[in-house]
Amino acid sequence: MASPKVAGQSACAELAGLLDSPEIGRLVEELQATRWTGRPGYPLRTMVGLCLAKSLYALPTWTKTVALVREHWALQRALGCEGKPPSVYAAYRFAEKLRAHGDKLERCIDGVVEGLKAKLPDYGTDLAIDASDMPAFANGQRYVYKGGPERNWHTDPDASWGHRSAVSTRRGGGFYGFKLQMACCTKTGLPIAWSVQTGKANESMFVAPLIDTAKRRGAIAATAAMDKAYDIGRVYEECAERDCEAIVPLRATGAVVKNEHRPPACEHGVWTFAGSDRKRGASKWRCPNGECKPASTWIKADRLHPLVPRETKRWKAAYRKRAAVEREFGRLKNEWGLKPLRVRGLERVRLHADLTILTRLACALSRARYLNGTRSSRVERPPVSKRSRREDQRERYQPPLRA
Ligand SMILES: [Zn+2]
Repeated sequence: MASPKVAGQSACAELAGLLDSPEIGRLVEELQATRWTGRPGYPLRTMVGLCLAKSLYALPTWTKTVALVREHWALQRALGCEGKPPSVYAAYRFAEKLRAHGDKLERCIDGVVEGLKAKLPDYGTDLAIDASDMPAFANGQRYVYKGGPERNWHTDPDASWGHRSAVSTRRGGGFYGFKLQMACCTKTGLPIAWSVQTGKANESMFVAPLIDTAKRRGAIAATAAMDKAYDIGRVYEECAERDCEAIVPLRATGAVVKNEHRPPACEHGVWTFAGSDRKRGASKWRCPNGECKPASTWIKADRLHPLVPRETKRWKAAYRKRAAVEREFGRLKNEWGLKPLRVRGLERVRLHADLTILTRLACALSRARYLNGTRSSRVERPPVSKRSRREDQRERYQPPLRA
């Protein structure tokens, strides 16, 4: 991971820092503007802090989060609710409020991503897109028990059966729940756009919206590495329309079996790649010794002949970076509490994913800012010249004594 590395501070100090950041502050302010009538309730800064604490401590439920705050004086101080921690009911009411004001949360996420882009200029240049399973907090089995009656209702009506691939020793197969579609930056490993859909949703339908969201948030999105599941003509077209180069391996479709994806060849051998023209939307290929007439040809870009040909080093290097999105899924699920789901319904699952990834990004932003600040204010050390070091070594070197 190429995002900045800073020695960890206490989670409470980190939380207080997040709440004081301008992006989170703006969310609190915007929510404050909606609260002009009714009971005063808990301070909104405390409630937003509670949401961040839930992901920061990777807690699955509000009950656990509230219990932790109740026992943890340092956390109460960070949240600004010393002696009067919020109740579970307040937490649920606030989650409902956040769902109703999704636009404000979205603006906050946009702000954090823009802040990261300002600190990490490479953030969002090359993307890796994939989907991952989020098993529902519900039983999706069709029958109540083996040979028994059919289930006539499910606790999570929005969840559905989807397919997931094998991971380590876990077999691939069906799962019941939701899918997180995500675009990650391959350089920093940080998410930049995501959306939660029901389990049966087709991944390839969400490439265009993900790239659009990433671009809206200021990403360049020059390339998008995706696995074989995205090897569909439409995906290449959608990427090309957005000036984004799709890096996708080929599935063995009819055309591939007929070798239509191979570069042109003549009696002198296989033609070599001679560069692509993005504006023209075509790649140039040359006869190996230039004796053919004409000696070169343009091939229009499509699924079989992408602008970055699959034989090139550049394509291979770009595809290898796709692993960034898989790492990030693991990190979100195992370290930031994206898993296990303890909410039901698409809207609630979406809010859970948004808050988890927002916390993740806000922490990365605060670290990037901290690092940037210390770097600029660091005391300048005199530069060590290579020559003096070499002279040092020469002085230290003692020739062996001869007998
Ligand atoms: Zn030739």
